[in-house]
Amino acid sequence: MDVEGAQVLARAPAKINLVLSVGPLRADGHHELASVFHALDLYDEVVAYPAEEISVAVRGLHSDRVPVDDTNLASRAAAVLADYAGVRTGVQLDVRKRIPVAGGLAGGSADAAATLVACDALWDLGLGRGELAMLAARLGSDVPFALAGGTSLGTGRGEQLTAVMVGGTFQWVVAMARGGLSTPEVYAELDRLRAGETVGRPTVGHDVFAALRAGDPVALGASMHNDLQEAACSLLPSLRTTLDTGMDFGAVAAIVSGSGPTCVFLGRDSEHAEDLAAGLAASEVCADAWVVTGPAPGARLV
Ligand code: ATP
Repeated sequence: MDVEGAQVLARAPAKINLVLSVGPLRADGHHELASVFHALDLYDEVVAYPAEEISVAVRGLHSDRVPVDDTNLASRAAAVLADYAGVRTGVQLDVRKRIPVAGGLAGGSADAAATLVACDALWDLGLGRGELAMLAARLGSDVPFALAGGTSLGTGRGEQLTAVMVGGTFQWVVAMARGGLSTPEVYAELDRLRAGETVGRPTVGHDVFAALRAGDPVALGASMHNDLQEAACSLLPSLRTTLDTGMDFGAVAAIVSGSGPTCVFLGRDSEHAEDLAAGLAASEVCADAWVVTGPAPGARLV
């Protein structure tokens, strides 16, 4: 087979949580979540080539922090799809990272979602989105959203999705931190901070849906909330300075993304977001800052 001719390229977006409400720790060790996911036009790409075995190579941003054995989420996705569809051949995956690793932007989940789409095409399986979504849920709670994209309410562990109507696009600044934070450690810190408290069921208020429907950045900024923010800032206190600096530069809102340490800032419009990104990038409070737009589409062939 002509390897070059048969290659397939797919990409999948980073996500932020506009609202992340974390319920009590369940007996199975997970927390029940209610979250509003929002996909950004910040993508990882996966190129899939025909091969005998499943293998993965990673390049781009923070690629040295990503395993290239069978724990890589892209190779796991290929293995799960091959097993489900009875595929006996392999795939060589080339992951090109632009999403910061361990940043709270679900980059690994994006790679898994892009791999499902790429391998479905490479192996000519023709699975529907529903089947791919079912496999995505097996791979991790953020993978179904990376496949779907857009903006969704997520419940359960975040994998039960309901699409949310959005009346426009929003301009965001993503400020990349110098290090990463481990998601399990941030949840453990939240449990420590909440020790002795009675924690209620996770909830999302109606205000965020109204703001999204209206396409109104000021109302959206006022309705954003992340229960993991205090825990992330407790582990990495410099995040408070990053958030304050963005607000000093005039951000409509500032929030830690998921379990952090990436911080995201909402701009009034694209010009405002460009100014904000330039100010943050020039300051010492983050490693880099970019303007991105949301909502963005989910995993797809390009
Ligand atoms: P989470 O989705 O758990 O919130 P995150 O968004 O903070 O995580 P990721 O970039 O998804 O962070 O990486 C989480 C961990 O998964 C890292 O420690 C990384 O080494 C590992 N990992 C495995 N496969 C990948 C992959 N393809 N891309 C990025 N990270 C991966």
